Amino acid sequence: MLKFTPILLAILYGLAMYRFSAWRTARELDEKSTELADPRLKALTDRMAAALELSRIRVHIYEIDPVNGLAAPDGRIFITRGFYNKFRAGEVTAEEMSSVIAHELGHVALGHSRRRMIDFSGQNALRTALAMVLGRFLPGIGIWIANMLASLLAARLSRSDEYEADAYAAALLTKAGIGVEPQISMFRKLEALTRSGGGRAPAWLLSHPKTEDRIAALKTLDSRWSDA
Ligand SMILES: [Zn+2]
Repeated sequence: MLKFTPILLAILYGLAMYRFSAWRTARELDEKSTELADPRLKALTDRMAAALELSRIRVHIYEIDPVNGLAAPDGRIFITRGFYNKFRAGEVTAEEMSSVIAHELGHVALGHSRRRMIDFSGQNALRTALAMVLGRFLPGIGIWIANMLASLLAARLSRSDEYEADAYAAALLTKAGIGVEPQISMFRKLEALTRSGGGRAPAWLLSHPKTEDRIAALKTLDSRWSDA
């Protein structure tokens, strides 16, 4: 029993971290957000809502500067103030904004946003448990290997989530009559933003696969649908 105590402790620690980070995220978002009320964007989200047979799609503004869209574990969708400002300044079109909203809706509909919080704390628990076990056999490098394994697993998980959310968004945008073109041009703009921004990538892109690969995947889907 004593042998397993460290692993049990690591799991308990992971669970506590999960509860705490879910609570902290929800609180932070509650304090720093308002509902988005923009007639041009609403016209588009209403079309997507109709395609999903929903009465409406609620979107919130998260009051931070970095250009980002996110889906909270509770299913709410947020666009950052920084992103909305790009739209207001005419740098991003309403259709392109709606493609980001569609992508975040994909994360919610496919259960990613909830799972991701678990991934994050699950990862910490796994990292700690692995480090304890490996550290016993391989002092010094055990912790390094544990970190690498946990990060590899996380990267794989988030990459497949992104392709799935892209495909969901493409289907929704097509059904709503908006099409995948704005989704593709949005990717290109985000990439340009990354390059011109002194190498600091927008948070939205950091956990995402390569832009060209995402565009290629979208074009494949689009041609398959237009042939049908
Ligand atoms: Zn995403």
